[in-house]
Amino acid sequence: PSPADPPYLQGLNAPQREAVLTTEGPVLVLAGAGTGKTAALTARLAHLVATRRAFPSEILAVTFTNKAAREMRERVGRMIGPAVEGMPWLGTFHSIGARMLRRHAELVGLQSNFTILDTDDQLRLMKQIIQAAGIDEKRWTARALAALIDRWKNKGFTPKDVDAGESEAFANGKGAEIYAAYQDRLRALNACDFGDLLLHMLTLFRTDREVLEQYQQRFRYIMVDEYQDTNTSQYLWLRLLAQTRKNICCVGDDDQSIYSWRGAEVANILRFERDFPGAAIIRLEQNYRSTPHILAAASGVIAQNGGRLGKTLWTQADEGEKLRVIGVWDGPEEARRVGDEIEGLERQGVRADDIAILVRAQFQTREFEDRFIQIGMPYRIVGGYRFYERAEIRDALAYLRLVNQPADDLAFERIVNVPKRGLGDKAVEKVHRLARAEGVPLSLAAARIVDSDELTPQARRALGRFIGDLARWRDLATTMNHADLARQILDESGYTAVLQAERSTEASGRLENLQELARAMEDYETLGAFLEHVSLVMDNEGAQEEAKVTIMTIHAAKGLEFDTVFLAGWEDGLFPSQRSLDEGGLSALEEERRLAYVAITRARRRCYILHAANRRVYGQWTSSIPSRFIGELPKETTDVETTMSGGASLWRANWSERDDPFANVARGSGRGPGWQRAQGQFTREPTRIVEARQSAVSLGNKGRDDISVGMRIFHQKFGYGRVTAIEGNKLEIDFEQAGAKRVLDSFVSLA
Ligand code: ATP
Ligand code: MG
Repeated sequence: PSPADPPYLQGLNAPQREAVLTTEGPVLVLAGAGTGKTAALTARLAHLVATRRAFPSEILAVTFTNKAAREMRERVGRMIGPAVEGMPWLGTFHSIGARMLRRHAELVGLQSNFTILDTDDQLRLMKQIIQAAGIDEKRWTARALAALIDRWKNKGFTPKDVDAGESEAFANGKGAEIYAAYQDRLRALNACDFGDLLLHMLTLFRTDREVLEQYQQRFRYIMVDEYQDTNTSQYLWLRLLAQTRKNICCVGDDDQSIYSWRGAEVANILRFERDFPGAAIIRLEQNYRSTPHILAAASGVIAQNGGRLGKTLWTQADEGEKLRVIGVWDGPEEARRVGDEIEGLERQGVRADDIAILVRAQFQTREFEDRFIQIGMPYRIVGGYRFYERAEIRDALAYLRLVNQPADDLAFERIVNVPKRGLGDKAVEKVHRLARAEGVPLSLAAARIVDSDELTPQARRALGRFIGDLARWRDLATTMNHADLARQILDESGYTAVLQAERSTEASGRLENLQELARAMEDYETLGAFLEHVSLVMDNEGAQEEAKVTIMTIHAAKGLEFDTVFLAGWEDGLFPSQRSLDEGGLSALEEERRLAYVAITRARRRCYILHAANRRVYGQWTSSIPSRFIGELPKETTDVETTMSGGASLWRANWSERDDPFANVARGSGRGPGWQRAQGQFTREPTRIVEARQSAVSLGNKGRDDISVGMRIFHQKFGYGRVTAIEGNKLEIDFEQAGAKRVLDSFVSLA
């Protein structure tokens, strides 16, 4: 480094400089997390422009998110001042694809003002096509077929390219036919979906030499960040574009490939060397982001994966704090604990903006949101809606509101035809008219209109059933536990079934959210109290400029970094996901492990990993065991503690040495008893560990006043037993058959 270096080179290490200065010919930067890949790519863009190797408009730079594109643009601006002569083509594959396609729309049968369909439009269209083709909608849902077509598009297949075998496996052998019909409809509507943004251009490049050459000439330099997550169609598109000039620089990390479920192919990294012979391969090994403990922890986990390209990582940073692995009793305690830790950090001067909570599944955000609202801690949800704002949650809430309050017209409107029950706009309009005329709520108007001949028989039947359901649910609400009622409503309305039929990752995420909603309701005495809580949460937007803790999924956190990171819900079945465990194959589990690697490496200085001994899933308590990934963390990088609200002492009080599965294990330093023994072996002895931990107590909830110690009770799962202790809403029961257990009072009846 010399003082004469332009600003964008200052501070870069030798291999980073090489990545910036090797402008001609293919370059592949293969390096671990936090080694400055994105930083180098940004400097490279600045260098190309500053040295006038190309006009900005002759440079193509692809980022993984729009946010990343914005950041890169701003940084380049800071490095070289206001952009000279135009702007680079800087954006995601989708945004760049759309920009190109507008220019050539007519060549693929569209007009340049084509619409880009959102998922809802796409599904509606697909439904029409399925119906027209006479295919059983229940077996082949719109969503499933849309996902299938998306997969084909990710592979770069037009309807003609879909091979017979693959086509035959779907929609009664009509897979390719449906695909073709769908594309025709899109054209007729002057529209395209996301996959088309790239596929149309790819097709054009393959068939129209002139267009291809035009872009091959134009783009003197091509750059791609997060290269490990490109899919085949993107790869082929890049390869064609780079074929003449071959000035393509891709940066990536095979260990961070986490989008294979969306068609990404890590193998594209290996193909690069083959397709671009003589490519310069640059490795960055110095990590500038994290402390040695964090790096060692991440490396320890990812080392368990096979078939890696392999990398060295080192850092000059001070050792820093160890990772803290914290075992808690249940989800609410996890949220409470994280909130407490954040407050502690803030007292030490850490800014909320520098803190992130990363979760594996969207539904996990709910518990944190509720807790943060309660303690007034500002937060933002990135890359997704806040829990109670998600479409499926709003739908479910609308049902509940309408049960609770028949005059809630907004709720009525939202769900009168969700899921679809064959009510046309006309019928709904008539209900509105009657309501206005008689000055009554919509649901009352609906009940009256059903008793008349105003509607078609089909609409009348459908509306009648809906009104009948509502009345029945209202009746049930007076006797039934409201969380169970919510589950019943979701089932009986057909809402759950529609999602189940979709069999997509997205739909199963929505189902998880709905289960989580019912779970959340269990914390409230009445349906009314719960709904009031929700409206308070919804109202809690807070000032925009305020520093906020970020809550997001690990997927959304790719490429980002935070001072302090909380990784929540590290339990087998949640992370790694149950799906990856059920599939049994190595590859799904290895992708989860890469996700763990991405998660840990987002942290600069502090990394907390939390796991709960109990989660409520499907309204049932399930005992969980710590994630296998926790066992893969090198011991010397972590401090382990179990904090079940003073659990250790209670645990000792409640269990005799004979019963104690860990009697020979030293207990000290306030750590939970189960954990120390468990660390090496928890996968072997999950049940006993969990049972032992269940004797720990989380205090503070109010319980039922009709139950006291000594009473005989009945529990659906464990049968008859006697109450030996009561802590809040949790009961310690000596069951006649099942032995000592800890249960929730709401699952118990008096015997
Ligand atoms: P990821 O794999 O997570 O995308 P990355 O390899 O893209 O990570 P960057 O985000 O570019 O890494 O850099 C990580 C951090 O290191 C950033 O804060 C960046 O500013 C800093 N950094 C990068 N290069 C250097 C350098 N040469 N000197 C000091 N800091 C650097
Ligand atoms: Mg990066």
